[in-house]
Amino acid sequence: MATDSDVVALFRQELELCDVGPGTSLAVFSEGDVRAEHARAFLAAASELEADAFQVNIRKKPGSFFGPGNSLKGNAPAMAALKRVDMVVDLVGLLWSKEQTEITDAGPRMLLVIEPIEVLQRMVSNPGDRRRIEAGSARLARAKELRITSPGGTDVTYRLGDYRIGEQYGYTDEPGRWDHWPGVFLYTAAVEEGVDGTVVIDTGDQLLLPTMRYVVDPITLTVERGMIADIAGAGLDAELLRSFMASYDDPRAYAISHIGWGLDPRARWDFMGTDPAAANSTGQDGRAFYGNVLFSTGPNTEVGGDNDTLCHIDIPLKGCTLTLDGESIVENGRIVPDDMRIEGR
Ligand code: FE
Repeated sequence: MATDSDVVALFRQELELCDVGPGTSLAVFSEGDVRAEHARAFLAAASELEADAFQVNIRKKPGSFFGPGNSLKGNAPAMAALKRVDMVVDLVGLLWSKEQTEITDAGPRMLLVIEPIEVLQRMVSNPGDRRRIEAGSARLARAKELRITSPGGTDVTYRLGDYRIGEQYGYTDEPGRWDHWPGVFLYTAAVEEGVDGTVVIDTGDQLLLPTMRYVVDPITLTVERGMIADIAGAGLDAELLRSFMASYDDPRAYAISHIGWGLDPRARWDFMGTDPAAANSTGQDGRAFYGNVLFSTGPNTEVGGDNDTLCHIDIPLKGCTLTLDGESIVENGRIVPDDMRIEGR
């Protein structure tokens, strides 16, 4: 277990990457006692950097984590405070909420930090990650077609071009820009009705939030014109996925969501199955591990679309090949282009 001073030093380094210094106004947003250690350490680190920092702490509502039911909804004074600063550290999880968009549209940059301290200590942000993400982003911006294949039978094609690219490298130093520490990966989404083919979610792939499972028995998705037309598989995993998606009673739940790949050498594929800290994690290791293909289902509002279904599953696929207009980006789970690759990996 780290001492407080270790955590303060780590958070200070993170805030320096976010260009926090003398006179920067910074709000730490939290609920009740949740992540109180994170909040204390961020305030101490900000104080060492001579920033003007304060905490906006509000009472936790049941089920407030992520999305439309968050605790900030309807709290005008708290919203006003968060919109007036240079930077917000979100210890709650405002992702996908209207409140988050309203805050970042008003100017503050925002950093989401909800992983356990042990995970943050292992996955320290650095500018090299940003360079590799921006190299990937430039390729993605030019691409018209993304194709994924796998030894297990995946062969699916995305037509690209309409939606924005999400870049995550674990820190943010630009006004209005959101990021999440930790995790290094990037993504976009297909044009409307632009995904067709077969996705095999194979043994060892992961079904993340709200379920947190490694798949044991493969699941085969048939995708037609951007929608899941069939979920095949005789095992428990396929049955759970069918039941979970049906529970939303929403045809838009079956849409294909963001697609991209992970570039984080510190994220671990095996984390969720081997580390006790995973009990308090949202699965950033799975989303970000180096060479994963991050497939997902449900909404596309994150990249500029209008599907806001609440049924969203991130599904990191291991050992796949991903090409952009025929050029290999990931080959059997290894990153190919020099500008994204880590030497020796
Ligand atoms: Fe997602």
